[in-house]
Amino acid sequence: MKNNCIFCAIAEGEIPSFKVYEDDVALAYLDINPFSFGHTLVIPKVHTEGLLDTPDETLAAVLARVKKIAAHIKTALPCDGFNILQNNGEAAGQTVKHVHFHIVPRMNGDTLFFENHKGDMDALKRLADRLRM
Ligand code: AMP
Ligand code: ZN
Repeated sequence: MKNNCIFCAIAEGEIPSFKVYEDDVALAYLDINPFSFGHTLVIPKVHTEGLLDTPDETLAAVLARVKKIAAHIKTALPCDGFNILQNNGEAAGQTVKHVHFHIVPRMNGDTLFFENHKGDMDALKRLADRLRM
């Protein structure tokens, strides 16, 4: 596996994902253990570990995609707001060492505490089909 990295393997198409967006720079797919309905990850296709080793131009390009995808999610799903999360290092809860942005849809009055719930693969597939751009 390239860079021994699961997100590179997803970007290469070596392992499947519930893809919702792809272009030459970035890829977005549903988190398989979501915090909330529609929890989506956005990655640059080129491997870097975290925020600090990622070139500014890449960050700017990926964040523009984060904005575009979040706007789409906000209209396509029940979604009153959203969090953008980006974890760096194990201490911060980073489990996959390929830089990524979380888009976490939120509802008014939800009681979301950031905790993964086991994903339903069929439901995730339907949702990715619904959201794919
Ligand atoms: P972080 O804790 O910021 O490193 O986030 C990594 C996220 O990747 C977690 O929320 C995982 O649920 C998610 N994740 C891990 N493997 C996959 C995968 N194969 N497809 C989609 N999401 C994944
Ligand atoms: Zn990678």
